[in-house]
Amino acid sequence: MNDALAPDALALHRALLTIDTHIDIPWPTGPDAFQDGTRCVDIPKMHRGGLTAGCFVAYVPQAQRSPAAEDAAFARACAMLQSINAMGRTEGGLTARVTQTADQIEAAKRDGVLAVIPAVENGFAIGADLGRIARLRELGARYLTLTHNGHNALADSCNPRRDLGDRDTEHGGLSTLGRAAVAELNRVGMVVDVAHVSRDSMLQAAEASRTPIVSTHSCVSVFCDHPRNMMDWQLDVLRDVKGVIQITAVAAFLRPNAKPDQVTVADFADHVDHAVKRIGIDHVGISSDFDGGGGFSDWRNAADSANVTIELVRRGYDRDAMTKLWGGNFLRVLRAAEEAAE
Ligand SMILES: [Zn+2]
Repeated sequence: MNDALAPDALALHRALLTIDTHIDIPWPTGPDAFQDGTRCVDIPKMHRGGLTAGCFVAYVPQAQRSPAAEDAAFARACAMLQSINAMGRTEGGLTARVTQTADQIEAAKRDGVLAVIPAVENGFAIGADLGRIARLRELGARYLTLTHNGHNALADSCNPRRDLGDRDTEHGGLSTLGRAAVAELNRVGMVVDVAHVSRDSMLQAAEASRTPIVSTHSCVSVFCDHPRNMMDWQLDVLRDVKGVIQITAVAAFLRPNAKPDQVTVADFADHVDHAVKRIGIDHVGISSDFDGGGGFSDWRNAADSANVTIELVRRGYDRDAMTKLWGGNFLRVLRAAEEAAE
């Protein structure tokens, strides 16, 4: 970028603990994380782009619900978490470390190694067996996205799956099981992620959770009326429960019907600006949804991550603000979950 601020912003970017809170992994096969290959996020691109840490998600697609399908979903989530855990190694002069706590993420930054934070997307993997939540936590998962596209046994999704027979609403938000799942997530120290849930589910999760909830990858409705985006009243709810919205790099969430090449970091920063103005700097963060649909013209992959910092610094965000946006707020939410765990 041709910008007089760029050298300072680049230096700041390198100094910050930067966390991208939602990154998919290829499954069942794909380039290894240590290969500088076709993935938007791999260890070499994180290193080049000054991205310190990433939440890598075991994503489970929604399918017709049956005990057998839920068993298969859980098996897939566990296998994917094992694959994410296998990223913790040294290769080609680069080291990635799987981290369990906010302190460990900060220590990784101090030690100059990249932090891998495992997570799970879609409570479908839980089925009706809440005991599975503790097993996902044992495999390192720090958050669970309650739904994906399509309602599951825990909650209504913001995107009902007509092909699976979904009506607009099935539970009117969280099911009884979903409320118990929120309590279990709190107990084991996992964060409740409301990125894909319906508005009623989001509100009820905020009320039910003993610890702050997060949307790990969403944008704001004021610029783009998409079911995945948050209305202003939802932002207010997030603030009231000390939660965070992690603005994400999905073109169609940033501008109506936009393709990736039509969107820039300026659009992304508009969403950050709105959320910060509405609910304050303590409740907003940054995510990409890379390798799961995220990415646009000047944030194509993890190697471009500094462009986000450059644009936000250009808009006046100082070091303290950038520290919070790039991970400080998310770390606070992780810590709150750890402290409330039983
Ligand atoms: Zn998602």
